[in-house]
Parts: sequence; structure tokens; C-alpha cells
Amino acid sequence: MIDTHCHLTDEPLYGQLESVLSRARGCGVDGYVIPGYNMESWRRARELSARYERVWIAVGLHPLFIEEGTLSHALEEIERGGIIAIGEVGLDYMEEGVDRVLQRQVLVAQLEAAKVAGLPVILHCRHAHDELLDVCEGFRGLQAVLHSCSCSHEQVKGFLELGYYVGFSGGVTRAQTQKVKKLASAVPLDRILVETDSPYIGTARHPAPSSEPGDLVEIVSALASLRGCSAEEMAAIVTENAVRFFSLRDARW
Ligand SMILES: [Zn+2]
Repeated sequence: MIDTHCHLTDEPLYGQLESVLSRARGCGVDGYVIPGYNMESWRRARELSARYERVWIAVGLHPLFIEEGTLSHALEEIERGGIIAIGEVGLDYMEEGVDRVLQRQVLVAQLEAAKVAGLPVILHCRHAHDELLDVCEGFRGLQAVLHSCSCSHEQVKGFLELGYYVGFSGGVTRAQTQKVKKLASAVPLDRILVETDSPYIGTARHPAPSSEPGDLVEIVSALASLRGCSAEEMAAIVTENAVRFFSLRDARW
């Protein structure tokens, strides 16, 4: 299986990578997409992808890491290549004090770059799904995933119409998460991606920051029971979806 969104560049994962990856392999997780979000994470992601097989990287400037000059660095990093996606980029209206107009400008510039590069986009979005859809409608033809999606099953419709995929993480494993479970039941099976977003999002068994890529198994089996199929069937579906979404057949495999 492929963890389509994990931050192996971040502590506590980075400091114990060999054991993290060996535990993951023991759980059947043997591919990883690392989304970069700022300069330090882009540097580390490149280092890890050079060191390990089946570690793929994305580069993008996250809305909460926008500072003077960071957009131009992000665009340079994207131009350097060696990446399978642009991300994580998006809108985050949950935190106060982060300039929303600027967030939107930075997102648009990176979606333009994705269009030029012909790469899919990993979208981060909190409390801004209507605004995000508005921006994305200006980029028809672009492929994207709503990572760790937190919108409602109603809000997701517009994104599904654009052909987007929806990423599910530990939320589906927890008892008190009716909204995300309803969403997981509404998304077509061929648009589902799975991710741990470790160490930032946890599962029922491993709350953050003790979550790891190996926890993908718990997420896949929760999705399987929501959709009434076996964990093996769900694992096959989401792996095929990840390979298709990120064009991994052409990537170093
Ligand atoms: Zn993330």
C-alpha cells in the first residue's frame, strides 16, 4: 500500500526513520508520498527520496508557512523537478491573522505552476472549502486531491465534478467522526486515496504524534467496513487509485 501523505521529514518520524519504515513494511505499507510545505521540509524530502526507494515527493508552499520571498522559492523548487505533485498548497482560514488575500494569491500562483508542469496537486483546506472550489473552478483540467478532507458530503460534490480525489486519514477510525464517515460513504470508490498525515493526524489506536505510516492499515480497514468490502479489496482499490493519481507507473517504482 502507499501512504499518499506522510511527513517523514518531521519529528518524531525523521529521527527514527529506519524503524518507522520497517514497521510500515511489516504492515504492508511500502510506498510513501512526502508533501513538502516549507523550505526545510523540501530539502529533507529530497534527501529522503534520494536515499530510499519508493519515497516520492511533492513540493509546495503551505498557506500557514507563507513569508516574505517564500513563494518565489517554492516556484524555483517546483521548476527543479524530481517531484510527482505540487503540494501541499491550499487555503487555511482556521487560524486567525493569516492574510486570506495573500493565501489565495499564493495558491493561484502554484496552481499555475502545476498546470505548466502537468502535475497533480495536493490540497490542504480548513474552513475554506467554498473559496477553494471557487479558485479551483478557474483551473479546469487540473487534477487534485483534497487531503485529509474535512468538508461535508454536500460540499465535496463540486470537487468531485472537477474530477478530484478525496484523501482520508485517521478520522475514519475514530468513534466521534460522523461527518467524515458520511463523506467516506459518499465518495466514489475510484476517487478515494488513503494517507496517515503522520505524525500530525492520529488514528484511534495511535493518536498524534505517535502515528506512523504503518497506521494506514487501520484506516483502510475502517474504510472497508464503512463501504462493506474486505480490507484486502479496499487496499487494492486505494493502491490502484494512488498509482493512477500520481502516475506512479512512470515514476521510479
Ligand atoms: Zn500534511
